[in-house]
Amino acid sequence: MRALYIGRFQPYHLGHQAVLEKIAKEVEEIVIVIGSAQESHTPENPFTGGERMEMIYAALGESDLRERCIVTPLQDIKRNSVWASHLQSMVPRFDVVYSNNPLVVQLIGEAGIQIRKPPMYQRDLYSGTAIRKLMREKCDWSGLVPASVAAFIMENGGVERLISVSKSDSF
Ligand code: NAD
Repeated sequence: MRALYIGRFQPYHLGHQAVLEKIAKEVEEIVIVIGSAQESHTPENPFTGGERMEMIYAALGESDLRERCIVTPLQDIKRNSVWASHLQSMVPRFDVVYSNNPLVVQLIGEAGIQIRKPPMYQRDLYSGTAIRKLMREKCDWSGLVPASVAAFIMENGGVERLISVSKSDSF
């Protein structure tokens, strides 16, 4: 059986990793889809699709899941009503989708595809929004992501970029 796990992964954190480990106990293979792949350099989406792909492969390399996962990007489309078909046409075949995103759950359910909602892992702590806030405020965030992801972000000026694109030009 092959599962699909979709997220923006801005950035990929230990909550995502915990979900992935749970999925790996239930299926043989996992397609990890990087959603909103066209987005980057904004306060909500600081990292490019390619950078997020590198982060995820680095994190998978820390675990024994590397051989069982395919990571692939997916751009958004402006028509939610046909998004499930768009997804199916762009990524490897899958049997079940794992998500807690209400829109994803709704659209996948309407398309007649099996959906499973994984449990949340300390959502207040492990959340992209919370981690980006810590980065902007120059507080410690690195323990909330896999070590290889923290290293990638620091080596590639990710925090500085996030702070820069979050600035306003009004005084
Ligand atoms: P995300 O990175 O915020 O989260 C990914 C998944 O991980 C979600 O299911 C979320 O519930 C789960 N998660 C996050 N923190 C967790 C934690 N601490 N413990 C357990 N689970 C946790 O990404 P997202 O916003 O859900 O990504 C959905 C993607 O689908 C987006 O890119 C969105 O644009 C895309 N999408 C696009 C369309 C369209 O193009 N029309 C329609 C629907 C969805």
